Amino acid sequence: MRWDHLADDNPATARNAALFGADAVVSRTFDTPEFRGMTFHEVRARSIVNRVPGASRMPFEWTVNPYRGCTHACVYCFARKTHSYLDLDTGLGFDSQIVVKVNAPELLRHRLASPRWHGEHIAMGTNVDCYQRAEGRYRLMPGIIAALRDHANPFSILTKGTLILRDLDLLVQASRVTEVGISVSVGFTDRELWRTVEPGTPAPERRLDVVRTLTDHGIGCGVLMAPVIPYLSDQPDRLRETVRAIAASGATSVTPLVLHLRPGAREWFMAWLERHHPHLVRRYERLYAQGSYAPKWYQRRITGQVHALAQEYGIGPWRPGLSRRIPAPAPETAAEAADAAPTQLTLL
Ligand code: SF4
Repeated sequence: MRWDHLADDNPATARNAALFGADAVVSRTFDTPEFRGMTFHEVRARSIVNRVPGASRMPFEWTVNPYRGCTHACVYCFARKTHSYLDLDTGLGFDSQIVVKVNAPELLRHRLASPRWHGEHIAMGTNVDCYQRAEGRYRLMPGIIAALRDHANPFSILTKGTLILRDLDLLVQASRVTEVGISVSVGFTDRELWRTVEPGTPAPERRLDVVRTLTDHGIGCGVLMAPVIPYLSDQPDRLRETVRAIAASGATSVTPLVLHLRPGAREWFMAWLERHHPHLVRRYERLYAQGSYAPKWYQRRITGQVHALAQEYGIGPWRPGLSRRIPAPAPETAAEAADAAPTQLTLL
């Protein structure tokens, strides 16, 4: 594995800067059912706050990602490609070979205390999920949130993990001293689709319970409705059911995002499609014939439908007194962020 060339989630810097020393890598397996078949590569990172490249259109400049790889194992995951920068497999390897930056909390606390740090917003969940299964064992997020709270540093988290509720007290404490934005990713509510395409994630309704709980505690929570999967979750009745459930959860916003199929994710997703929905393969080849994205007309159609449904069900923008101001949802990857369909329902 090319640990010596790992810098952050940006391939350019990953090639050019050494972040981990080879002697800092310890690989562990745990013989408990929830971690069976997984390997955790514990590293002591040399830095933890990453700057998003200047050319990016993302709504944030700084990110913290304590993990690489994700046991949530979403077939379509946009971050799969990043595992190849470590010479790790982007398919099953991405789901089961997890890099854990065990010193993330102490590094962050050190950075926040630096006179050169000026309290900029930090986005988490921008590459992989910081509340994936590994977090249950490594417990990096409590230290990270505590550091942000102690420095009153604004931050946002995007997650599919119900584990975030473990840190509810810390989030509430942080929200009293700084801006805290939480977004939960729920692309659809169809359980059959969920079981096959997002096999390591909590069920959609459990994720919406997270939205409800956070909102009940005064932490407004938006939903990134991602991905909308063509021909599988985009039928009008399915969109309606999803938006209805999101509205019922008390979400402060909904932002739809159509499936991307970038290299790394595309091959993995298409193999899955061939196994589970072979009749759709040709349609996908046509829809994604121009590259990684569905055509603009298709994206506009989905966005329009979701906006109309959101208005019908009364998902409104944040209002004073409802909760603290919520920064823009932090898309899971640079790709998501750059290409998120604009929506008047997004809070920024
Ligand atoms: S889409 Fe998000 S939750 Fe799913 S595997 Fe990728 S990083 Fe994890």
